[in-house]
Amino acid sequence: MDSSFIPVAEKIDVPSVTRTWDTISLLYEDQFHDPAEVDEEIDNIQSLVSELVDVEIIGESIEGRNITCLRITNEMNTVQKAKTLVLAQHHGREQITVELALRFVLWLLNGYGVDTVLTEYVDTQEVYVIPTLNPDALDIVVNDGNHWLRKNLRPYDNDGDGLFSEDDAEDADGDGSISEYIVYLKSYPTEVPAIQDADYWYYEGIDNDNDTLFNEDEIGLVDLNRNYPNFWDFGVTDVTTQEYRGTTPFSEPETQAFRDFAQQHKFAMAYSLHSGTNATLFVQSGSNYWVEPTLYYQMASDYRGILPSGFNNGLGYPVFDVLNLASATAGGWGEWMYYEQDCTAPITFEIYTNESANVEDAYVIIVNNSTHIIREWEGIYGYFDPVVEHIQTLWLELLPAFEYLLEMTPRIDIDITGISGGINTGETLTLTTSMHCLSSRLGSKESVTLLGNESEVLDTMTTVEASQTLTDEASFILSKDLSDSGYTISIGNNYTGYARFVLSLGSPAGPDLVLSGIGIGIVLAAIVIIVYLKRR
Ligand SMILES: [Zn+2]
Repeated sequence: MDSSFIPVAEKIDVPSVTRTWDTISLLYEDQFHDPAEVDEEIDNIQSLVSELVDVEIIGESIEGRNITCLRITNEMNTVQKAKTLVLAQHHGREQITVELALRFVLWLLNGYGVDTVLTEYVDTQEVYVIPTLNPDALDIVVNDGNHWLRKNLRPYDNDGDGLFSEDDAEDADGDGSISEYIVYLKSYPTEVPAIQDADYWYYEGIDNDNDTLFNEDEIGLVDLNRNYPNFWDFGVTDVTTQEYRGTTPFSEPETQAFRDFAQQHKFAMAYSLHSGTNATLFVQSGSNYWVEPTLYYQMASDYRGILPSGFNNGLGYPVFDVLNLASATAGGWGEWMYYEQDCTAPITFEIYTNESANVEDAYVIIVNNSTHIIREWEGIYGYFDPVVEHIQTLWLELLPAFEYLLEMTPRIDIDITGISGGINTGETLTLTTSMHCLSSRLGSKESVTLLGNESEVLDTMTTVEASQTLTDEASFILSKDLSDSGYTISIGNNYTGYARFVLSLGSPAGPDLVLSGIGIGIVLAAIVIIVYLKRR
């Protein structure tokens, strides 16, 4: 081959998806979805925007309901992209998390082709959304009376009478909701004590099985967010508690489904949505330390800047003392994601109230005498009423946190700024690569890697830290001659995703690698004209 030819590299542009859909709304607005309605929404969304939406059933619940994952990404960009995750509703009664997950999906699709930044996120990331991990409990909570159900629906004979779940809480007074009562075993003459200071609590109900006890054989058994393996040994073993850990780690089909899904992916950052307080919770070690104190401190500061102040009062915002925290969650999702799945920032987002609401106000004093106080909460709906105001308001307040997730997912802007070496089989080709990490908080984690035509590793380069810009070289031996048809390479890693380039033969040694044939022609013509003019 003529050795005067030189190799050239050209970046392959991300093909853009032409928007064909109008603004999408939910089929069921201003209400909590049951699992069948969630499935309907997913089908509808996928049929309207098949260019950006992939649907995968990742497993089944105890009762055989589908656990479904949506993948939102530009399907025309077939390269592996950076990945992120929003997982909702480990706990049945935390329905608001399902609603936020669905709105997140709609926001991505409705903004695509309209908002430049958001479009770029969908073009360069794979956004995974699991709207419900606990669909069985969701069905009970929305359709079947007990809107307090937290755990999954593994049957259990709590009272040993041979029957399963036959004495659950119910709406004994027929007012449309099951009340929760919290009891303080002494009087508080001056002020009403805080909710967390209650001595015990119980739910409204009747003695369904006439054994003189009530609510003693509840529906539900395992707390899915205590069923992961890390610190599981320290979990709660009492089956009657709200936090029962299960017989073994991953004993439940719901957590197994998530495990099998997560093991196929690399997430640098992910959200698990919960409800019960307002807080942003980072992973802790067994000894009360944040596992990434510097990073998490920065992130906590970021959230303070973008979330309403009501979300800054809860757990997980230790401004001055990062060590003053509760210990790790035994068997928690975040711990498994961090310790086993190499996810740097698995964040548990507790989303309960919008800013104007105060959870203390929900509990009304019904008994207050010299010996004890009883406060009643007429039901989770009574506070978090989806009809009156809350879902859309809350979503808009929290939207910056979802934008933040996409912004902080590490992606690297890669360019080949130099190319030198041989063009024939067996010769070494060297690429000078400039890399800039687009995330200001998370770096590439793993080395940036150069992959060949068959995804084989050709060379390994440096890691790139958050916000860092640097240059590195990669070399490999050509396994075939470069030709006009080109040789495709990819640069990146499993966390950042990859950029693709075509290496091919340029024209005989010209002054500039990137000049096209026409460009070189124009330059040569200009030189000829200048020489000609000078000679005149
Ligand atoms: Zn929860």
